[in-house]
Amino acid sequence: MAKNIQAIRGMNDLLPSQSPAWQYVEGVLRQVASAYSYEEIRMPVLESTDLFKRSIGEVTDIVEKEMYTFDDRNGDSLTLRPEGTASCVRAGNEHGLLYNQTPRLWYMGPMFRHERPQKGRYRQFHQFGIEAFGMPGPDIDAEIILLSARLWKAFGIEDQVELQLNSLASNEARANYRDALREFLRAHEAELDEDSQRRLDSNVLRVLDSKSPQTQAILANAPRLSDYWDDESRDHFEGLCTRLDAAGIRYTLNERLVRGLDYYNRTVFEWVTTELGAQGTVCAGGRYDGLVEQLGGKPTPGVGFAMGIERLVLLLEAQGKIPSSRSTDLYVMAGNAEAELIVLRVAEQLRDGQIGLKVQVHSGSQALKKKLNKADKSGAEYGLVVFMDGGIETYQLKHLRDRDQADQEFTQIDAVIRAL
Ligand code: ATP
Ligand code: MG
Repeated sequence: MAKNIQAIRGMNDLLPSQSPAWQYVEGVLRQVASAYSYEEIRMPVLESTDLFKRSIGEVTDIVEKEMYTFDDRNGDSLTLRPEGTASCVRAGNEHGLLYNQTPRLWYMGPMFRHERPQKGRYRQFHQFGIEAFGMPGPDIDAEIILLSARLWKAFGIEDQVELQLNSLASNEARANYRDALREFLRAHEAELDEDSQRRLDSNVLRVLDSKSPQTQAILANAPRLSDYWDDESRDHFEGLCTRLDAAGIRYTLNERLVRGLDYYNRTVFEWVTTELGAQGTVCAGGRYDGLVEQLGGKPTPGVGFAMGIERLVLLLEAQGKIPSSRSTDLYVMAGNAEAELIVLRVAEQLRDGQIGLKVQVHSGSQALKKKLNKADKSGAEYGLVVFMDGGIETYQLKHLRDRDQADQEFTQIDAVIRAL
């Protein structure tokens, strides 16, 4: 027997039993994005490797060890996108969507990172993301946070997620803080965890979100980022907080929140939950005012977030918030041999008569009892048995979920449609 070929580790099939949950989630995401006048953009999953190196940063976890990078047949280095913002900026620059304009965009689709697969962490995963360009003020930071808060409400999980905010301030303020933090940590170098020792030179801010308790204890006395905030960034941050207060959005200031991508400045935020173990961040984002220029465009501010759809679905399932759904409403079958030839046509009439009705037609000519068994297993609300006798059609409607209701007999298809 031939050996079975299996899926790539960390890349999941989405089976028919799971797709109703995903369709529900995707539907709500689309609906809420359009309630804020955001428009969809779709980018390719493959990009030049340089795009991600130049945007996410050479010494970040993503670029150092998580990207799927390979040479194509022409010898060009390509990378399966690990996130959407860089591609979105690339597309916006390429098509002249950004400069002197204020596009509000959303995207949804697969992302790829070579990480250790575990619950809530996969090698192909899906993000829904929002990006807004050309608007420098804190009002738009507040808007995208309100949009995300509306999503939690729409899904009924507003009590399971918490908003954490921070400001990474200006590049200059952050550079000063970096120096101060490095100097402080040097004095404790030997006591730091290995990753943090390595990051001391390459990416010292990431030491702040080290998981090591010993490193965290050392950080308790470290210089604070907010002491290095420049005045404009402080005003921006306060402008954001005031607007969130006015809209009734609760948040906590987390000065250790730095994000794993280099392009952020000023506002950064995460929505976190305690319900998913270590993979607790469902949505993360912030401002990236330098990125458009860094990728070759004219200076244009930007702000956005990305949400992990797998983590969102896991959270909704854990909370029992996925509405039940049915793939078949009505199961149609022939009641006698003569009717076998017309059931497909009858089903077409039913679909014409009630748009959206999910009609499944039995395939094959088993005994009626077998067909009814399948009808029952399909989960359909109704079964319809079609009879044909000397050119005369009749219909028997069965209430499959409520056996106490008597079967109904009809001679007109219109009457069947009215009874559904
Ligand atoms: P983490 O700290 O969990 O690794 P991250 O900072 O790498 O997350 P981002 O790059 O900000 O994550 O991506 C935004 C969101 O995408 C995350 O908050 C998470 O919900 C989701 N996400 C990121 N990586 C994965 C993954 N490998 N599998 C599933 N979801 C992911
Ligand atoms: Mg990560």
